[in-house]
Amino acid sequence: MRLIFLDIDGVLNSDAWDKTRKTTSNDFLIDQFDPEAIKLLNELLEKIDAQIVLTSSWRLNFDLEQMNELFGRIGIRRGIVSFTPNLNAGAGYLTRGNEVSKWIIDNGNIIKSKPLSFSDYIILDDKADYLISQTNKFFQTDKTVGLTPQVVQSIINSFDCASTT
Ligand SMILES: [Mg+2]
Repeated sequence: MRLIFLDIDGVLNSDAWDKTRKTTSNDFLIDQFDPEAIKLLNELLEKIDAQIVLTSSWRLNFDLEQMNELFGRIGIRRGIVSFTPNLNAGAGYLTRGNEVSKWIIDNGNIIKSKPLSFSDYIILDDKADYLISQTNKFFQTDKTVGLTPQVVQSIINSFDCASTT
């Protein structure tokens, strides 16, 4: 199964969106998402045929069912299969990269491959909070503009390249 480890803030919304947005619905939560970014995400999900694992801090405030209900209302065409674990409940700090690694190790049944050889994924986030070993999996958005066609294209290219080598 191909996966996108997905962040929300700075990816599906942005500073630019925040400044110019008009409230488009009476739903506070829906209005946190830029429809242009959602359109791009849907195109990406369809093009690379990927499922979502949520890494965003939104996962700490909602459960999987609530997030899927919200993603459905926003118009995101794929469901969230899982959340990465929160490794920062205690003292100290571990990166989101550590949380992605832990998720992969714990979810052999979902990825249907040996965790150590699993490579059919990308990480999409505005913060470079990931491991050096994940460098070629990590695609960074600029939080001032969020998800752009350029970032989407570079992700698509990365899978095209992988499949021809
Ligand atoms: Mg973010």
